[in-house]
Amino acid sequence: MATAQKERDLLIEVRDLKTYFFLDEGTVRAIDGVDFDIKRGQTLGVVGESGCGKSVTGQSILRIVPSPGRIVEGSILFHRYSGGNGSSEAKTVIDLTKLDAMGDEIRSIRGAEIALIFQEPMTSFSPVHTIGNQIMEAILLHQEVTEEEAREIAVDMLRHCGLPRAEDVINRYPWELSGGMRQRSMIAMALSCQPSLLIADEPTTALDVTTEAQILTLMRDLQAEMGMAIMYITHNLGVIAEMAEEVIVMYLGKVVERASIDDVFHDPKHPYTRALLRSIPKIGQKSTAKLETIKGMVPDPYNIPSGCTFHTRCPSYMPGVCNVQEPKMVDVGNGHLVSCLLYDQGE
Ligand code: SF4
Repeated sequence: MATAQKERDLLIEVRDLKTYFFLDEGTVRAIDGVDFDIKRGQTLGVVGESGCGKSVTGQSILRIVPSPGRIVEGSILFHRYSGGNGSSEAKTVIDLTKLDAMGDEIRSIRGAEIALIFQEPMTSFSPVHTIGNQIMEAILLHQEVTEEEAREIAVDMLRHCGLPRAEDVINRYPWELSGGMRQRSMIAMALSCQPSLLIADEPTTALDVTTEAQILTLMRDLQAEMGMAIMYITHNLGVIAEMAEEVIVMYLGKVVERASIDDVFHDPKHPYTRALLRSIPKIGQKSTAKLETIKGMVPDPYNIPSGCTFHTRCPSYMPGVCNVQEPKMVDVGNGHLVSCLLYDQGE
């Protein structure tokens, strides 16, 4: 029964995903064997430093990996539910990696069933069309409604996203709105087709803290109301603590730790996760106190270290072990997964 429930709840299953970029200088293994699941209605946080593969993971799901990158191995299973609630629901499973990235099937999923919001709304809105026209275009592309109905849905979504005078905002151009209003409008566009998964890639990074807090509250409220899952990509662990139920921590294209939000914050296992947590400011810390930083730099992507790829920066480095052996992902209890040789590798 528990297995059946677990199976029913699955929305996205990523298995051994590898996305590489083939450049003149060499091959960058942006994602190198990543596994994770997203359940219906769940918020999964994806954290790591710049260049760890967080955004490429989201782009791979949407099949918008920019050239010269491509998925070279693995699967991304999208569980599509239909036919109402409960046991009467029918489910089809689509491997997104098998679809033509420019084909009709992924186009019908992208923007409708799986939507994306990111840091800079101006890159998702055209400056020469009104907010309303652009939201309506997305609605008309994916839903069988008249223009008038699309306009009503757009105004309703803008209102839902906390925009005052939505009837007026719909006629505005993106550059006429403040950063916070543009971000709310982008969320309205992304959610206008009621997606089952929203990929949010650093959506509040460019905002001031007050606006960021408002946008995070808005996303949580909309999720409670609409029931979509959220994959929240960020380098900010504070935001993850507010938003996610489960977290994956990525380093150099691999998942190094995956656990519930409580376990990651109260009992982090991987030295990299511990270092990330030590680098966030604490309440009560003196303003003059120096923040801890993670030793060294992220290695050159053309020259990935042998063994555990974190060994060049790890405070727990074991010479002759960590630079030789590649750690496996092991369960250290309660589904808390970690990829580190400090933990029993079951050999
Ligand atoms: Fe550090 Fe070794 Fe664990 Fe890698 S395997 S995180 S180098 S202790």
